[in-house]
Amino acid sequence: MAVENPIVDLLVVGGGTAGIVGAKTAAGLGAQTLLVEQARTGGDCLWTGCVPSKTLLSAAEHATTARALTGRPAAFADVRKRIYAAIDTIEPVDSPDALEAAGVEVIKGALTFRSPGVAEVDGRTIRFRQALIATGGAPVSTGIPGLDPEVTVTSDTIWELATLPGRLAILGGGPIACELGQAFARLGSEVTMIVRSRILPKEDPDAVDLVRDSLASDGVRILENTTVENAVTTGTGSQLLLRDGAAVDADTVLLATGRTPRTAGLGLERVGVNLDKDGQVITDTRMMTSNPLIWAAGDVTANPQFTHLAGVHASVAASNAVLGLKRQVSGTVPRVTFTSPEVAAVGLTTPDGGLQHRARTVRHTHVDRAVTEDTTGGFTRLIVDRRGKILGGTIVGPRAGESLAELTLAVQKGMTTSDIAGTTHPYPTFSDGVWTAAVADVRERLASPSMRGAMAVLVWFRRRWLDRPIPRLATGSRR
Ligand SMILES: Cc1cc2nc3c(=O)[nH]c(=O)nc-3n(C[C@H](O)[C@H](O)[C@H](O)COP(=O)(O)OP(=O)(O)OC[C@H]3O[C@@H](n4cnc5c(N)ncnc54)[C@H](O)[C@@H]3O)c2cc1C
Repeated sequence: MAVENPIVDLLVVGGGTAGIVGAKTAAGLGAQTLLVEQARTGGDCLWTGCVPSKTLLSAAEHATTARALTGRPAAFADVRKRIYAAIDTIEPVDSPDALEAAGVEVIKGALTFRSPGVAEVDGRTIRFRQALIATGGAPVSTGIPGLDPEVTVTSDTIWELATLPGRLAILGGGPIACELGQAFARLGSEVTMIVRSRILPKEDPDAVDLVRDSLASDGVRILENTTVENAVTTGTGSQLLLRDGAAVDADTVLLATGRTPRTAGLGLERVGVNLDKDGQVITDTRMMTSNPLIWAAGDVTANPQFTHLAGVHASVAASNAVLGLKRQVSGTVPRVTFTSPEVAAVGLTTPDGGLQHRARTVRHTHVDRAVTEDTTGGFTRLIVDRRGKILGGTIVGPRAGESLAELTLAVQKGMTTSDIAGTTHPYPTFSDGVWTAAVADVRERLASPSMRGAMAVLVWFRRRWLDRPIPRLATGSRR
């Protein structure tokens, strides 16, 4: 297809998860689809996000076991090799070739909207009927006075480190900060986390306590409720001076204080796409922007920044755009922090404080799989309403993210603890935690005075029925 002609049905801007899924969905539905990517398809998830960080965590866990057995630390070069091998393995799925095979035309360059229906990529004009903005976000670079850019890395650049940092200071306490902090500590760095409030502020405080203890036992120093005021360059790196007067020496500083949407230079004002106060593209629940012919998905919007959400939202946006549907996105969003222990949560994670909701907690000392693996520190907590409807919950422990899928389905489909309790779960698995919590909830509801009364009546009728006089059958001789 020539780039300037004909008009494409859907122009997709950005080749990360949202762009790839959106483009493949549209092409699969028969739309002429053009994807424009300024750098390399695959986006943050493949190159600098999920894939390298989860590989790093896995390598660090193996390194801890190996060090315990052999006394030798892992070679950082080997860890880097593993990370690049994982990226290389997954990359073909997100490649321009894979997109072309799915019917998507791909061109490289930075796109700018010129006017409604017209955009430009490196001087080439593109005409489109509709567009999907999927330009993602970038790490915020905190302006700390005196901080030497030479020692500063972000989640985009930490993967370029050739050697393991001796002293790594991490600014921030969200999932990325905790995951990278634990991994680098396990590999042998001296890690200090400097956190404005507390680590994992969105998570259940009991879960956070377990992660905090685990990070501390891996050697991570966590300084909460403080910030860096300024920094000075020393002979061996940087000294960070904190609000409370403390000082932290580091030779590498990781800025993990949040991400900002990539909208600069897109020319959104020329096509009537509005942004919120944080610069994120505003969408409705159909993923439509303020321009009804322009859609958006992924980290560029105000939604939580997850690969799974970027993909689902892009798919909804693309099918709405191409087929004129009015599909809405679901508000049920699962999230996992892949530390050891993992923290997985969905929906409501604490009761509302009144009698409307209650928390049903099972400590993993009561989950046999955790006992067999000697990892009983975690818990499963369901938040349920008075009728046993599951509103959300938190799971902390090994493979918590895997068990969360069931809880997510339960929340999304409005299921009750009776539904979970009545479903056979394989034994022994960590998902037993969800089942045991559901069974405990059902049992307690059965123990309420009204249920006990109703059951007493049923038992009484059943007893009467069984004890009823039974007429003797006539038994006679056939002779
Ligand atoms: C360290 C780290 C770990 C993470 N771990 C997880 C995890 O375990 N699970 C999870 O769900 N999420 C995780 N995430 C978040 C996840 O990576 C993002 O939510 C996801 O990648 C967002 O996808 P996206 O398509 O919206 O944006 P991106 O992947 O950022 O893609 C946007 C693309 O648009 C391109 N682009 C931008 N502007 C233009 C333009 N003008 N013209 C053309 N192209 C343009 C960019 O080059 C980029 O390739 C992690 C993130 C980080 C940083």
